[in-house]
Amino acid sequence: MNSCCALPVEVIAADKHKSGDACCLVTEKTPTPARAECPVSKTSSRKVQRRTLEHLLKAEKVGSIQNVQYYYCTDPECKCVYFSNERMPYFTVDDVNVKVFAKDKGDDVNVCYCFEWTRGRIEDELNQTGKSTASLQIAQQVKVGNCACNIKNPKGECCLGDVNTVVKQAAQPA
Ligand SMILES: [Zn+2]
Repeated sequence: MNSCCALPVEVIAADKHKSGDACCLVTEKTPTPARAECPVSKTSSRKVQRRTLEHLLKAEKVGSIQNVQYYYCTDPECKCVYFSNERMPYFTVDDVNVKVFAKDKGDDVNVCYCFEWTRGRIEDELNQTGKSTASLQIAQQVKVGNCACNIKNPKGECCLGDVNTVVKQAAQPA
């Protein structure tokens, strides 16, 4: 089991488990540049693992994955999801099997892709109970090793930062 899973569940829930790259979900280290610019939006983008693409691209697109480093664009206005520094086509929201949290504001979009927490589910719980259990529930699953963000989440990383952001935004009076 990796190091972040040994941390208290509250620390994981607060998304404070990634310091020092100790988190079990941190992107693997490769010699390619840590960041690259999206060819469409010029957004500075972080690396994403090849297996994330293999799991999330539509079946007819998986064969187009090349043996290069891919990056993940988070710009909400940009349709490009995965790209590389090589001269080759990039993959857009239409090529991905799931709705991409960073690029789709819908209530039916997953924030947590492992345990099915959508924006709507987080908001419903907050409306009904006045508090959110999402991050703590997710952290408990992370701790026991049930999370698979590296292949289920389009960004290939832990969702807890996004979960906490959504909870915070939803908790604010409209
Ligand atoms: Zn982009």
